[in-house]
Amino acid sequence: MTEILIRDAQLALTMDDQARELAGCDIRLRDGVIAEIGQGLRSSGQVILASNCLVTPGLVNTHHHLYQTLTRAVPGGQDALLFGWLQTLYPIWAGFGPEEMFTSAQIGLAELMLSGCTMSSDHLYLYPNGSRLEDTIHAAGELGIRFHPTRGAMSIGESDGGLPPDSLVEREQAILEDCIRVIDAFHDSREGAMVRVGVAPCSPFSVSRELMRDAALLARDKGVMMHTHLAENDEDIAYSLEKFGCRPGQYAEDLGWVGDDVWHAHCVKLDGQEIDLFARTKTGVAHCPCSNCRLGSGIAPVRQMRDQGVKIGYGVDGSASNDSGNLAAEARQAMLMQRVANGADAMSAREALYIGTRGGAEVLGRDDCGQVAVGKRADLALWDMSVIEAAGSWDPAALLLAGPMKVKHLLVEGRHVVKDGQITTIDLEKAIVKQNQLAHSLREKI
Ligand SMILES: [Zn+2]
Repeated sequence: MTEILIRDAQLALTMDDQARELAGCDIRLRDGVIAEIGQGLRSSGQVILASNCLVTPGLVNTHHHLYQTLTRAVPGGQDALLFGWLQTLYPIWAGFGPEEMFTSAQIGLAELMLSGCTMSSDHLYLYPNGSRLEDTIHAAGELGIRFHPTRGAMSIGESDGGLPPDSLVEREQAILEDCIRVIDAFHDSREGAMVRVGVAPCSPFSVSRELMRDAALLARDKGVMMHTHLAENDEDIAYSLEKFGCRPGQYAEDLGWVGDDVWHAHCVKLDGQEIDLFARTKTGVAHCPCSNCRLGSGIAPVRQMRDQGVKIGYGVDGSASNDSGNLAAEARQAMLMQRVANGADAMSAREALYIGTRGGAEVLGRDDCGQVAVGKRADLALWDMSVIEAAGSWDPAALLLAGPMKVKHLLVEGRHVVKDGQITTIDLEKAIVKQNQLAHSLREKI
């Protein structure tokens, strides 16, 4: 039995159905679960003093391409639009192998954890030079973060009129076979699972209609979730209308890509009918505001989606289209962008944080996570409110208006994985040195 007591939290934002905010509470974590919440709890085990801390559920990242942490701020892609940006980066990514996948995942996940993230998905859609999905699963396992990797794919290369070079695409039969392999080897459907695998063709413009359909059939047969990019920008909509004769929402619906086991990244350009479709079918959205800004894609209709009841979480998206991987900063950016589009009262700091925690857990189908409540998994972020960013704040719950963007402590499944602002599970400095060496040698190759 492992037990940790969080003592005397300044304030705990529970994100439960009553949106309770508990001052001066103790939280007992036992065997990976929140066992007790109260005052004056006793402990003979490890105690974390939290009198200066805001306690929230851990943040949940619903969209990422971890491998891209090796290609941040690449000069040729810094100011390009989406399609041009992809064409700059594809040849560099073609030089990746298992070591690049492992190290970049370590760095990306550690960066997320330091910003309060206890659970992340990943969308890995290219497998050059012997790379495999488990390269990232092993990195997550060492770090101790809850991980939802998705087996992505591209099958339409340049010679078939697609965007990626032929060396980065795979045969569709091989893609489906590898999906089955990684689901059978790594997917855990049980409550409290640390790894759940999903199926995730890269986007409607990089795989065939048949693969979209077959991937959905396979995912439902295996009982796993499905993920892809959808309606990211105007070019994306134009492509869909020209190539498929319909908008992305219609295309998704026709191929079985709506439902509570599906979540789509971006959805910046969903129209009213598509928002209605997503709400009706309980289809989730990974909202990636920094990436949408970085690539000039637009402001996603988050206010409208929330009001209609669409499930929404945040994604930092690949570091190559965000350059940063700070999930707390992403939540702040989402709040600010909804205010740009809809006015200062369009999204409160509390709502923005709800989307980042329980909202993300709901998108990933994790009812067992995302709340500070007895019986839920012990995934918690502790934010030090005695730091300069919060000095003078009248309301610790307004973390995203005035507060630290990095955690003091992070617990995943009751394990103390960030302590006093430092990752406890791996040698992060060594990983950073390795990452920079790999980035350097990739640069030498081009
Ligand atoms: Zn993406």
